[in-house]
Amino acid sequence: MPASSLQATKPLPSANADEVPDVTALLTAAVEAVGGAERPGQVAMAEAVARAIRTGEHLAVQAGTGTGKSLAYLVPALRHAVVEDATVVVSTATIALQRQLVDRDLPRLAKALSPLLGREPRFAILKGRRNYLCLHRLHTGAPEEPEDPGLFDPFAVSAMGRQVKRLHEWSSDTETGDRDELVPGVSEQAWRQVSVTAKECLGVSRCPIGVDCFAERARAEAGKADLVVTNHALLAIDALEGYPVLPEHDVVVVDEAHDLVDRVTSVATAELTPNAVAAAARRCGRLVDEEIADRLAEAGDGLHLTLAELAPGRLDDLPTPLAGAVAVVRDAAHACVTALGPERKEDVEGSTARKLALALLEEVHDTAVRLLTAFEPPEQDRYDVVWISGGVGQDHTRPSALRVAPLSVGGLLRERLFGPRSVVLTSATLTLGGTFDTLARQWGLPPAPAPSRRAPGAATEKEPPADDTGSPAVDGPKWTSLDVGSPFDHPRSGILYLARHLPQPGRDGLPPQYLDELAELVEAAGGRALGLFSSMRAAKQATEALRERLPNTILCQGDDSTSLLVKQFAEDEPTCLFGTLSLWQGVDVPGPALQLVVMDRIPFPRPDDPLASARQRAVAARGGNGFLTVAATHAALLLAQGAGRLLRSMNDRGVVAILDPRLATARYGGFLRASLPPFWTTHDPEVVRAALRRINT
Ligand code: SF4
Repeated sequence: MPASSLQATKPLPSANADEVPDVTALLTAAVEAVGGAERPGQVAMAEAVARAIRTGEHLAVQAGTGTGKSLAYLVPALRHAVVEDATVVVSTATIALQRQLVDRDLPRLAKALSPLLGREPRFAILKGRRNYLCLHRLHTGAPEEPEDPGLFDPFAVSAMGRQVKRLHEWSSDTETGDRDELVPGVSEQAWRQVSVTAKECLGVSRCPIGVDCFAERARAEAGKADLVVTNHALLAIDALEGYPVLPEHDVVVVDEAHDLVDRVTSVATAELTPNAVAAAARRCGRLVDEEIADRLAEAGDGLHLTLAELAPGRLDDLPTPLAGAVAVVRDAAHACVTALGPERKEDVEGSTARKLALALLEEVHDTAVRLLTAFEPPEQDRYDVVWISGGVGQDHTRPSALRVAPLSVGGLLRERLFGPRSVVLTSATLTLGGTFDTLARQWGLPPAPAPSRRAPGAATEKEPPADDTGSPAVDGPKWTSLDVGSPFDHPRSGILYLARHLPQPGRDGLPPQYLDELAELVEAAGGRALGLFSSMRAAKQATEALRERLPNTILCQGDDSTSLLVKQFAEDEPTCLFGTLSLWQGVDVPGPALQLVVMDRIPFPRPDDPLASARQRAVAARGGNGFLTVAATHAALLLAQGAGRLLRSMNDRGVVAILDPRLATARYGGFLRASLPPFWTTHDPEVVRAALRRINT
């Protein structure tokens, strides 16, 4: 990607700062234009964001649902961009929020602010190259051979063929080539046939279709925009990879910031699979000496055989046979890269095939090198965690893979994200146990300089467990925090029911008492229940049990696409929806269709989760309590997100029921409860059922 298209200058003159009203006045105009009412939390947040932009200090703002937080950061961001002729980047974790910003908030805001800013602010959306249709690949690129053995199934192959045909038809209709605009979507396998990664792209100057390229057009638009909306993955690539993929910017707003660490960790995670090695060998098969490509294919077979002998799980040492197999892959991939030789500029077809091969070869080679070097430092100084996923004893249908991920991303974020610019982080859930410090440490920020403002009315204000997974960031970037609270009256609108009398959750599915309790709660609520389970197995067990006992429709995640299930759930009040992780964070159903949120157990990470267990051990090695620090923080964030599904609009009422009694009885329960909204709390099932019956009478 040439830097020139990213640095395209904005064609419009900047406004004179003295003539532009301040942020509060702009916010008033914006709120009037979109037909809302002024909210104190929103004004406080907008002023704090403006101050952070002005001073260059970072800011963490917790703003509950209903605050109108997107306007509270968009208004100061647009003012800064227009007045200073700068670019602001807004990053989101979900497509839903991205759409809300680009399709709803920004168009209305741009129009409303245009007369006050002196010109209409421009905005654009930018995603990673893999998200856009590659016209060159579509028309001339080599088709990918299926990597998933399942696709040798003739039905699967013809299904993919139909999807690729649909993509060809769509290519002449779409104006953006953005995968998210293709409804219904296509499989990952099909999309891979028509898209390229940044490393696989020929480069706009070499590509014969470069002028029509969707990804290049999106980048050119972003280069001219005042505000660019992107996702956490691209933000992480821009910050971590050392080459710019976003336009030059001096301010970043990270919305849905509770998800930042996980998304950055995903970007920084690499995987080596026998299938990837085989695909790399196939791609360079016709470009290099057959013998050299065969060596790589054999190295892939060797890796497959070695992995097949090993159990999944974290590796504290690299077993000698595996180290040997990975080293053979590394050397064979290196030999292929050398054999490919330098690019021949005049040969576009050859360049395309070479680029596709080189991208995979380098990925295989670099991951093999990273895997081998991960074990070199003494255990307490290691940066990366390595584990085997899939394969023996776990999931026989998935091929084994070697994965490597950083133990912590705090240092990377501190240096590369917070270092060069002013960052505003916001979400409805940023305080855990009543303080911002827990998440701030994960972002690599130092302890808050002054006591952070507490979440008003938090049930208790327990100190979070100390997190010392990364190096302490005492002299790190300056930051402040603000909790603007929530417009909801939590103690009056919601009940937190802690089922203290139930047994502790076991390993063998949901205890019968949980199913009885669940059925009674759902019956009292007349359906309207969102069941958030810690595993798919538990969600299915509860679905089957309640389908037998109650007349209500019980939808279960996986029965259909999640968005369709949520739609069905929202449209029919007696219907219930049960599911697992993505529902914990992704359901936004205001009104009487959702009056009961039930969680089966505290969502601690699984004890065999390689990354969480390695992080726990790192804390323990420094004298901390690994379980509480890592697992309790993880659980607190999810519990808060899950409980946040209940109240979505001012008139909502209902119950959050947590069946796991440890929330009421365990010593870490206080920290977890303090991470939840300040609902009125009870342990009495009769009281809760009576309240649920009353809500709709
Ligand atoms: S520049 Fe060409 S190869 Fe690169 S993404 Fe665009 S169309 Fe594809």
